[in-house]
Amino acid sequence: MPIIKTEAIVIKEMNYSESSKIITLYSLNEGKIRLIAKGSRRIKSKFASAISLFNYLKIIYYEKEQKELFTLSEADIIESYHNIHTNLKTFAYASLFIEAIDKGTSDYDSNPRIFSLLLNFLRLINKSKKPQEITTLFLIKLLSLIGIQPIIQHCVKCSSTERLNSIDIEEGGVICPKCMDKRKSYEHLTTGSLKILQKVPETKIPRISVLRISENQLQSLFELLMKYYSYYLEGEFKSLGFIKSL
Ligand SMILES: [Zn+2]
Repeated sequence: MPIIKTEAIVIKEMNYSESSKIITLYSLNEGKIRLIAKGSRRIKSKFASAISLFNYLKIIYYEKEQKELFTLSEADIIESYHNIHTNLKTFAYASLFIEAIDKGTSDYDSNPRIFSLLLNFLRLINKSKKPQEITTLFLIKLLSLIGIQPIIQHCVKCSSTERLNSIDIEEGGVICPKCMDKRKSYEHLTTGSLKILQKVPETKIPRISVLRISENQLQSLFELLMKYYSYYLEGEFKSLGFIKSL
């Protein structure tokens, strides 16, 4: 019965029985994992404070053969993010980002770069007053890590670099006017938005929030990204409804 020790971040929790929860975590060593936390709904549970959305934990669990769900044995908090829980807007955007990670990854497919991106995201959004901006920038960074990076350096059909002001979501990239099909509709992309899409993937995280984005640009980029993610990750984002309701 192998004992697994890893760092992990809580990305989903679900009540299981009267006393237990099933939690989904994105871990450093094992990728996305789902564990049962027995007794965690009881007030006196040893997990009660640790198992909370977004918490960064040190965990121990046992892998048993012929079991689909492994059981959490220990969980200690390394970091928790108070401001995410006290600011509704921040909470909504942070929820959207972990939903994108949940939808975009498979169980037990380890990727330390995704773990590190998520950790940096939580630290930044926790102290930022611009949750939509942080989330938009990190959603751009996440695209390549989950394998859905659009082609943005040149037209997806003819490789032209001229007049790139539309994106073809189905084709997965920007498209020039010559290659457009009149029967189809495309998402408009301003020059400024295109530059951000091109720049963010090569910008290191500490410098990411220095990029200047206007309010309009941010809103249109965010909406475009949501359409793109929904197309490739299939299915609506529950947190998007939450964000729109604020
Ligand atoms: Zn073209």
